[in-house]
Amino acid sequence: MKKEKQARPAIFLDRDGVLCKERGYVTTFQELEIFPYAKMCVESIHRKGFLAICITNQSAVARGMMTENVLLELNGLLQKEVGLDAVYYCPHHPQGMGKYGVACTCRKPGVGMIEQAKERFRIGMEQSYLVGDRGSDIICGQRAGLKTVLVESGYGLEDLEQSVKPDFLFQDLQEFVDFL
Ligand SMILES: [Zn+2]
Repeated sequence: MKKEKQARPAIFLDRDGVLCKERGYVTTFQELEIFPYAKMCVESIHRKGFLAICITNQSAVARGMMTENVLLELNGLLQKEVGLDAVYYCPHHPQGMGKYGVACTCRKPGVGMIEQAKERFRIGMEQSYLVGDRGSDIICGQRAGLKTVLVESGYGLEDLEQSVKPDFLFQDLQEFVDFL
């Protein structure tokens, strides 16, 4: 009998507000302010046996504020800088321009990006977490069957939808990784 490859656990990380500073739309390298602790946190995530995968909504592309190529460069820089295993992004928005103006399944709280990563890396969802700073992140994680972690380093709790109940609440990624 062929032995099934073991599923691996992962930490899904939102980008803005978790790995780098939340500043509305980030469309240039100068605006991409990676948190000083991000690299150390990803190293720690790896040491604890998890994959580190970024999933990010970037509707600035659909809004015509940035090209997809620039976004790819920004994400590439972030991936290299902090040592992520992969970065998945959604460039769409239902009211966006041209080919990006679609109601897609990848825009969070949709689970499209997680499904892609799950297939590629054979991720076991039960042991995996999603870390985000917004209600849409938490809903996305819950829909995908992940444990959900809300951090206060981005939008903060004031902007949170009342109905959202994350499994864990931490100040920032650093505090979560210490707990992990
Ligand atoms: Zn999308």
